[in-house]
Amino acid sequence: MTRYVYDFIEGNKDLKDLLGGKGANLAEMTRMGLPVPPGFTVTTEACREYLRTGAMPAGLLSDVEDHLRLMQARIEKTFGDSRDPLLVSVRSGAKFSMPGMMETILDIGLNDVTVAGLARQSGDERFAWDSYRRLIQMFGRTVFDVPADAFETELAAARATAGVATDAELSTAQLQDLVYAYKKIFQEHTGRAFPQAVHEQLFLAIGSVFRSWNAERAVLYRRQERIPQNLGTAVNVMAMVFGNRGDSSGTGVAFTRDPATGRRGVYGDYLRNAQGEDVVAGIRNTVSLTELATIDPVSYRQLMSVMQRLEQRYRDLCDIEFTIENGTLWMLQTRVGKRTPAAAFVIAAQLVDEGTISLDEALQRVSGAQLAQLMFPSFDTDAAPPPLTVGVPASPGAAVGAIVFDSTAAAAATGPVILVRRETNPDDLPGMIASQGILTSRGGKTSHAAVVARGMGKTCVCGAEDLRIDGDSVTVAGRTLHAGDVISIDGMTGKIYPGAVPVRPSPVVRYFEGELSANGDPLLTAVERLMIHAGHRARLAVHANADTATDAARARRFGATGVGLCRTEHMFLGDRRQLVERLILADTDSERDEALAALLPLQRKDFEDLLAAMDGLPVTIRLIDPPLHEFLPPLEELTARVARAEALGEDPGRDGSLLAAVRRMHEQNPMLGLRGVRLGLVVPGLFAMQVRAIAQAAAARVADGGDPRPEIMVPLVGAVQELETVRGEAESVLAGVPGAPPIRIGTMIEVPRAALTAGQIASAAEFFSFGTNDLTQMTWGFSRDDVEGAFFCRYLALGIFAASPFETIDADGVGELVRIAVDRGRAARPGLTVGVCGEHGGDPASVRFFHDAGLDYVSCSPFRVPVARLEAGRAACRAGGSDSR
Ligand code: PEP
Ligand code: MG
Repeated sequence: MTRYVYDFIEGNKDLKDLLGGKGANLAEMTRMGLPVPPGFTVTTEACREYLRTGAMPAGLLSDVEDHLRLMQARIEKTFGDSRDPLLVSVRSGAKFSMPGMMETILDIGLNDVTVAGLARQSGDERFAWDSYRRLIQMFGRTVFDVPADAFETELAAARATAGVATDAELSTAQLQDLVYAYKKIFQEHTGRAFPQAVHEQLFLAIGSVFRSWNAERAVLYRRQERIPQNLGTAVNVMAMVFGNRGDSSGTGVAFTRDPATGRRGVYGDYLRNAQGEDVVAGIRNTVSLTELATIDPVSYRQLMSVMQRLEQRYRDLCDIEFTIENGTLWMLQTRVGKRTPAAAFVIAAQLVDEGTISLDEALQRVSGAQLAQLMFPSFDTDAAPPPLTVGVPASPGAAVGAIVFDSTAAAAATGPVILVRRETNPDDLPGMIASQGILTSRGGKTSHAAVVARGMGKTCVCGAEDLRIDGDSVTVAGRTLHAGDVISIDGMTGKIYPGAVPVRPSPVVRYFEGELSANGDPLLTAVERLMIHAGHRARLAVHANADTATDAARARRFGATGVGLCRTEHMFLGDRRQLVERLILADTDSERDEALAALLPLQRKDFEDLLAAMDGLPVTIRLIDPPLHEFLPPLEELTARVARAEALGEDPGRDGSLLAAVRRMHEQNPMLGLRGVRLGLVVPGLFAMQVRAIAQAAAARVADGGDPRPEIMVPLVGAVQELETVRGEAESVLAGVPGAPPIRIGTMIEVPRAALTAGQIASAAEFFSFGTNDLTQMTWGFSRDDVEGAFFCRYLALGIFAASPFETIDADGVGELVRIAVDRGRAARPGLTVGVCGEHGGDPASVRFFHDAGLDYVSCSPFRVPVARLEAGRAACRAGGSDSR
């Protein structure tokens, strides 16, 4: 029979699939002998079964009973005992951390009888009744969907009647009245009494945690974070320990290193006399963890030693939730902590220096996506006005936007917005996703706003206590700002500025540009070190898609070792449009030759500059691809111009011929029409002119002492015969240009037929480059320009796509064509060079795919070159360090 329940002493940190992250780590800490309250974990498998059938799996409840008995024996208390009752917490815990997205219920086991037992046993009647009212509130809301407001209103009324400002000031008698009122609310909303049977409480709570996997906010969070929707959550049942038993108790969150910068030290927040979720909820302001050294030096020292042991065990930054109950320290949770991109690099390098991990492992601790975030700009503080105030810098970045005070407004906004709130809660998620940045007046680095923003890579400043947020305005430093006013928030320094502060390039970009040296800067040093190691390990080379010498030069500074795609059509725009028009309108061979002859020197100069910028490195120049009518004015515009001229009795002149040409060349599906190699075969002399320009440019560079390495690439080939024809013409042109170096001729593989007949095509191609943009369109049969806005959202929501196939390669479909073409191409021509130049070349997940598929290089836009270099190195070491080809 399937086992659905594991005691904490039975599991370990590697069982995350089954026990969830929290359960696996609680088990690990228990095995390490750390002070973890006894408990057990109900598996994710049980959750999946429950969600599938809508009922508790057979045997689960008796398993739970058995483990509860074990727990009782260990803690020497009994669940439901009227004198000294065991209370438990029931917490969700999926494989991947989903902070605040699912449910937690504390104090299970309290009822009208055990509350008195808890009061007697703890010697604190007020505490017992406060716990009971918390249970009814949490249980009612979570298990039976009683609206949170119903309890909150009652609580506010109780405070008002008692004439006190905070819940902590309510007396025992007032709390007893509140319990009575809460039970009535529960009865009114659910049609039943609050369950007095403690086992029923527990089972209902477990079911509701299972169901919370499918709560709307949890589904949204998973979609955003790309966590699979079918994993389910585990449920952790743990003996309660109390941080709200007076001033020698409290609860806190700690990090073994600063999750924002990676610096070593003591980072965390502590809240005295508080229970569980109060810290994360950011409801009261916490003190810094270092103050615990004064408040409770013994627990502090013990905590420091626990943190050190956890770092050693996990070999990484850990974050921890702990509770101190009457001077006794308890660990409630640990995990490898989330961190900012900067911290990820700094910590990975530190751990190498400390001898904890190898450079190969360090590469796995960072990602291309994180590097991409570090390449975002920051504020130009020299041009900034004095800040309005400073909050806690919780997630780096520079965000400028109009103030919005609620998440609905943020989600509905059309321009950039900053979400300004006292604190955030999981319901704010859609607004947080829609905002440039998040600003709160309460809570520390571990508040909900901070944790979620860091996870999303959004700028966040929290705990800016000077902000007085009042409905739809905020007052700070004597100024009142309203919704719509623009502010700038700096997630690195915590500064909040009025107006839009100018933004400047990231230091990482300046480092890649060669404007800054890494010397002495911990982040740049870490980036440099990991990039160098990635370079040593990578098998894939990284080229750039660059059409101009300026772009090519930048790509080279960023580490590109060639141009993988120069799209020559960009060289036909601007003033040169006229020449293309002449080419299209030419009635005779000589008119066409004249137009081509006028284009030739312009093209030659473009290529010379490009080859100079990439001297000594391969430059793959693609012959013109788009349909020629794209260079003519749009049909509507010409029609209107001609109609106007005719109405005025004037001769439409050139416009008339252009209109006729546009009509003649009109295509229903230009994407699938006369473009690429087809155009080259139909318009005589066009490809030949480009080939001549390339060869002459190369010859000129050689004459100047350069080392030009151009390659000619033919787009949109579907049949070897097309390529053979173009090749024949190109070779005779090349033979006629004296002084040119050898120039290889290859093709793009971007039509499914080309992939399938790659064996034949390779006989005429010295290299392949996958045009995965077109290959994706043609494999799926949809046009990118039309469909991305039309239905991709829906497809992503339905889980038909995990990610847009235009961003991340569709490994099963398009990827299969890539694999087929590589195999057949190399079988026909061993040593065939194979690369990719579609957008996927700079996408981290796709780079891994191309590594595995055995490509020689990826080519991407210059700004993504560092990301691709890092990912190429990661891909090589991920495969165990060996060349996987
Ligand atoms: C491609 O199709 O992937 C490609 C690089 O060509 P383009 O995007 O210019 O069609
Ligand atoms: Mg293409």
